[in-house]
Amino acid sequence: MDVKEGVGIIMDATAFYPKGGGQNADGGLLFIDGKEHEVEDVRKDGEVIVHHLASTIGISPGDSVQGVLNWKNRYGNMRMHTAQHLISAIVKDNYGADTVGNQLYPDKARMDFSPLSKQDFEPEEVARIFSEQISKGLSIKIYFAERKDLNSDPRVRISLNRLPPHISNLRVIEIDGYDICPCAGTHIKSLKELRPIEITRAKSKGKGRIRVEYWFVP
Ligand SMILES: [Zn+2]
Repeated sequence: MDVKEGVGIIMDATAFYPKGGGQNADGGLLFIDGKEHEVEDVRKDGEVIVHHLASTIGISPGDSVQGVLNWKNRYGNMRMHTAQHLISAIVKDNYGADTVGNQLYPDKARMDFSPLSKQDFEPEEVARIFSEQISKGLSIKIYFAERKDLNSDPRVRISLNRLPPHISNLRVIEIDGYDICPCAGTHIKSLKELRPIEITRAKSKGKGRIRVEYWFVP
């Protein structure tokens, strides 16, 4: 463990997710030398992950750390994130539109699609296909794959060109046999963990782009 004075700490290994890819940082607690610290933010800084704390006073490099994640929020993010993969696949198949932005929260999320107009988008139809897919209960697989193999796989719906060219081995998330997408985020193990969604809003953002908001039907 290392200390970035006045900012936070860097651990040898961590279960805390750093903000990125539309997913917020994990929250939770760290216990260092018997003292409780709230994790205020988690950010990537080059190759390391910095856990931001209110104060680093009294913390020394090499201290052992025990962490407790805010699991309710993390699990919400995992479900919303996996739902996002499924919606991206459905929208690509039905409208040929790409997911060009997303912001995930534990209890709701928003996604941007392009090219797609509000007139062509059918919220109820997308929600219906979503329900149909989750009823199949497909498992979620996470593994690494070669970029060249992914390039020729029709289950990969996104263009790999937008990923940094020097990365040849990609972490991918597969909705078993249905969709494959490179991603560094956190996901659930099975579509069985999802519920039907409701698309609560769809609005035009101009230039052939729409923004959609959704949550799980309570
Ligand atoms: Zn993902």
